[in-house]
Amino acid sequence: MPAKWPRGRLCLGGNAVERSCHWGIPASFSACFLKTSEYLAQTVASTIPFPGRARSTPRFDWRSAGLRYYAYGFHLKSLHGEKVWRVSVDGGFTCPNVDGRVAVGGCTFCDNRSFSPSRRVRRDDVAAQIDRGIAALQRRYGVTAGKYTAYFQPGTNTYGRIDKLRELFETAAAHPQIIALAIGTRPDCVEDEVLDLLAELARRLPVSVEYGMQTMHDSSLRAMNRGHDHQSTIDAVERSRGRGFEICLHLLIGWPTESRDDVMASAREVARLDVDSVKLHNLYAVDGTALSEQVRAGEVRLLDRDTYVSWVADILEELPPRVVVERLSAHAPPEYLTGPAWCLDGAAIRRDIELELARRGSWQGRRYGCREGGGLARSGQGG
Ligand code: SF4
Repeated sequence: MPAKWPRGRLCLGGNAVERSCHWGIPASFSACFLKTSEYLAQTVASTIPFPGRARSTPRFDWRSAGLRYYAYGFHLKSLHGEKVWRVSVDGGFTCPNVDGRVAVGGCTFCDNRSFSPSRRVRRDDVAAQIDRGIAALQRRYGVTAGKYTAYFQPGTNTYGRIDKLRELFETAAAHPQIIALAIGTRPDCVEDEVLDLLAELARRLPVSVEYGMQTMHDSSLRAMNRGHDHQSTIDAVERSRGRGFEICLHLLIGWPTESRDDVMASAREVARLDVDSVKLHNLYAVDGTALSEQVRAGEVRLLDRDTYVSWVADILEELPPRVVVERLSAHAPPEYLTGPAWCLDGAAIRRDIELELARRGSWQGRRYGCREGGGLARSGQGG
């Protein structure tokens, strides 16, 4: 059996309600699950960490751990042997969607008031930011040692000269307590030389590149004022593939003009793109943004909690079992949040999503590839 994941060929947990499984085995939960477990065990055992790997990191048998989806915390603990904490780093980046290169004003939901020209120079030394972030985590959670990921978060973190990017990322990578990098960016902002740099870093430590896909529907992207289309995401993913770093997509749920079918089409597109991980975000409004004004004027209605929980369970059923789910919801600090208030309790949302999957007797990937005739859902047009 090959030591890499067969694209679109894995059914973790079988498909008892479907006609056939992805391995071509007639509907049989146990047969499919055994085959999958065997494959997982072999894959984990045969994956050499990092250099030259076909996949960015090994995958772990989350169903045997009693989970209903491939939770990020479980993945990191399996990979590193302990909890890995994230330290947010501000590299002083602005965004081409704010400074006029692509658009002005930024995305309607983005609180980008702090992306002033002065931030183009980093505010503080990256190492000092990491030290402060680690100290804050240790104070807050009583962590005594710990492993940390440096998360380049605010703005578009590949929007700068290559020498500046190299200096920032190298400084973070050299920090003695940093074991991984995560870099958030736009799909239209990764030149080949940037991807080369990220690939070079990924040969030394795990690197995750997070692309803001948000939706596959160009009409929604235009309404958000994203300044890029979905083809940009496809292009970024294809050019990133096989370079040794992880590819993570952000999916926005609850854009007011999108139906459940629209959202599910985007979920299947994430599955089709065959990425490593996904972050699911509910649409929320932050005071002072264009979206906040629309919400306050009654022009935009934000998704209710029950619908969000149900849709996320639907999405998880469509995602490949090997895709790590890094986030199930998001929120802003309560002092800036226009709404919805329900998103402030992320732990309760996660619990209710798990309960919804349990109520259905379902799990991540249950419907992945289980379309009519047992065919594989490998097209964004599918379903
Ligand atoms: S692309 Fe990202 S950083 Fe830029 S305006 Fe949109 S949400 Fe904000």
